[in-house]
Amino acid sequence: MFTTISSHACRHGQGKLSLRLFVLRNARLSNRSYTTEHAHHEARIENIRNIGIIAHVDAGKTTTTERMLYHSGRTRHIGNVDHGNTTTDFLPMERERGITIQSAAVTFQWPPKSVLPSGQESKTINLIDTPGHQDFRYEVDRCLPILDGAVCIMDGVKGVETHTERVWQSAHLSNIPRLLYVNKLDRDGASFKRAVQEAAARLKTWPLLCQIPWWQKDDFVGVIDVIHEVGLRFSKTSGAMAVVTKDTLATHNPALKDEMEKARLQLIDKLSDHDEAIMEEYLEHDINVSAGTIKKAIRRLIIDGKARFTPVFAGSSLTNIGVQPLLEAVVDYLPNPSERPELRVMTGSKTVTFSEFMEMAPKKKGAPHQKPEPVLSVSHVFKVVDSGARGLMSWVRTYHGSLSRSSHMWNSNMHVFEKPQNIMHVSAKDYHDIPTLSTGHIGAMTGLKQARTGDTLLTFPGHQTQAPEAYRSVRIKAPETPPAVAFISIEPYTKTAGDKIVDALQRLSREDPSIRWHKDERSEQLILSGMGLLHLEIAQDRLLTHYKIEKETAIWGDIEVEYSECLFAPTRPHYHEYDRALRGVAGRAACTVLLEPLEACHHDTLLESSVERDGNIIHVSIPLPEDTDELPFDTETVRQQLFNGAIAGLSRGPRRSAPVRKCHVHITFDPEKDWSKNSTGGHITNAALFAVRAALKEAHENAQVGILEPFTNFTIHCPEEASHAIQHDISSARGGQVMEVRKPEEEDYSGSVDGKAGERIDLTKVYVPPDPYEGVQSLRDEGKKTSGSVRMLHIMGKAPLKEMMKYDGHLRSMTGGRHTLTLDPGEFELVTGPREKALALDS
Ligand code: GDP
Ligand code: MG
Repeated sequence: MFTTISSHACRHGQGKLSLRLFVLRNARLSNRSYTTEHAHHEARIENIRNIGIIAHVDAGKTTTTERMLYHSGRTRHIGNVDHGNTTTDFLPMERERGITIQSAAVTFQWPPKSVLPSGQESKTINLIDTPGHQDFRYEVDRCLPILDGAVCIMDGVKGVETHTERVWQSAHLSNIPRLLYVNKLDRDGASFKRAVQEAAARLKTWPLLCQIPWWQKDDFVGVIDVIHEVGLRFSKTSGAMAVVTKDTLATHNPALKDEMEKARLQLIDKLSDHDEAIMEEYLEHDINVSAGTIKKAIRRLIIDGKARFTPVFAGSSLTNIGVQPLLEAVVDYLPNPSERPELRVMTGSKTVTFSEFMEMAPKKKGAPHQKPEPVLSVSHVFKVVDSGARGLMSWVRTYHGSLSRSSHMWNSNMHVFEKPQNIMHVSAKDYHDIPTLSTGHIGAMTGLKQARTGDTLLTFPGHQTQAPEAYRSVRIKAPETPPAVAFISIEPYTKTAGDKIVDALQRLSREDPSIRWHKDERSEQLILSGMGLLHLEIAQDRLLTHYKIEKETAIWGDIEVEYSECLFAPTRPHYHEYDRALRGVAGRAACTVLLEPLEACHHDTLLESSVERDGNIIHVSIPLPEDTDELPFDTETVRQQLFNGAIAGLSRGPRRSAPVRKCHVHITFDPEKDWSKNSTGGHITNAALFAVRAALKEAHENAQVGILEPFTNFTIHCPEEASHAIQHDISSARGGQVMEVRKPEEEDYSGSVDGKAGERIDLTKVYVPPDPYEGVQSLRDEGKKTSGSVRMLHIMGKAPLKEMMKYDGHLRSMTGGRHTLTLDPGEFELVTGPREKALALDS
């Protein structure tokens, strides 16, 4: 029944693909396994897809990745998150907890070689499975910019969740073309319709339905491929896929066939509003627009990464439904590295395209007509991992040229040359040595002593001892690390234990820059700070298990929230001249610093040369000395040193030694000081550091320093009967604010995310097929209510993180465990009234 391909499909060139999909059901058996050999043959750039899987925690990212590996023939067994045996969640902590903590890379071929006619090549998919918990958002943010496309997964029951919105915005910042995959359609309560509507409203993207779900009564059995006009049915155990023709559908399920035609017409209609090629074919052939034309139009519409439109797919990864067509979509719609916008680099305070940069690079001294020296390669370190036996591993994406083991690489952030010991291809926990890493590829290197996340690596012809001046500081922009909101104190019993912990902390924060540490000057405690409760629990776990710190060698404090400090009013200008000897070297430098509270409106008027760091904005001015033809200093170095000094000065406030935030720093360098006396970078840094400290000290003496605490935005889903007590507790005892209470069915899909990218979408114009038994559903719900089932409410608002970090346990006693609590990072807010008094007593 499933084997015939309709003549209609073939006429429009759809037969080939359908046939390919059909053959895939047997592909697993013949496509034995991906060998290391593959890794040695670098794929051509057109055949590469570097993609990420992004979503809220538990949407099914790891499960989908696992199915992709299996169906591509890369693995022989299907791992399961719930059994702790997936390929990408390989850390012991991930397996125990059933969550993804670190992003993991895997590579596989699609379609599997065995099903392709000879002469055709498979695409090489480099996939990064990311964590979905908001505490690990930096892990997602650092990986996204190096990817060329992403699959955003939604839970078909829960729809768009808070972290889905966040990662969607992160993908937006890097203009990553995206696909949407509505997963878990096998679950009770799943609604494709609601998921699509929420995506349109909250993510502000126009959904292009390439598939609609195939429900047989209550059972989710497959998907309807709207573009090729076929049904795809799956075996829930093996995932074997069968193609059902339109004619067969018409015989056995005419309503579904009609819905498929309707969906296709809607898709063509929408596409033809925005794409000329499809409009012409539409005018000529009416609805018989070929699958190829539709797919090309979709590709054109999403390739800019602005996500005005997003192709939508359906499935249930756990029950093996919909994964192979999703892989087809990755290959068909997401770009290869050469189709991405040109790399942008920062030089000084400007950001330009790489070719613009090469044009403007200054010519060699004494040979103004000569071309600047070529740059052989540009790569970006996006992650550093301590792999145990192999040591620190730097994950790299190459944007231009290629790297080999003999590459002499200039790290333009650390200003050192480094050479890799080995270059490797990463596949989850396995690494295979490879000779080179060319443009568009992702790999890992050992042997880099200094590289950190966000560093840029460049190579030049010849074996230089110093990087050509024009390129010394050129960088690829790296994502900022978000400010820490919680910390844990560690008090070692002995100096030896302390040294060992410090060494581990150094390595841990090099692996994960969103983990920071310092030694408290007063208490001598080591303070480890991070993004939240889970993040710090995991960090502590890693110190004990991976870095082998013995727990008994120190006192470990509780996880507490990290306060910060802010200014109420601008300071007067503070001039500081630093002229002490540093490490025996005499020198002198001076600057003036003025600090002011950073109001929201400042963001609009900021100068291009301002830099944002840890919630502060720093602006450096360097007036040029009079009567000089040649500058006695390098402006870029001076800017960086002043900047470093300001950061150090802001890291400890005058009130609680907590970091200062929401501050606008103006630093003006004094160029008139005598520079012939061997001033070092340290002198400049210290001039800025002491000037900032003096300004803060004076502000504190004038009672102009406030305390800020991290807030969190919460959503509590709870039974109606508990909701009053919860609201009361939050607003009276927790210092929080309830903003909205609503029934789930009153969900407002009219576009609730303000001011974010994308336009508001008129939902009445968005086509979505009805869910099965939609009409009957409300009757069922009515029945439920009368039979005494619990009515649930959503309570939304904001509250101090300190109160909410462990609120889940407290809620349990109020709801009998029938609740869910979601926390999303909020702003830092001023501590006032009784909370401020309580704090003063604390310290
Ligand atoms: P991630 O956090 O996004 O990586 O999600 P996981 O892949 O770890 O899955 C979270 C949970 O959802 C696990 O218990 C999975 O077994 C389950 N799950 C994933 N996909 C599906 C699905 O399609 N249907 C159902 N019913 N459960 C699923
Ligand atoms: Mg996961």
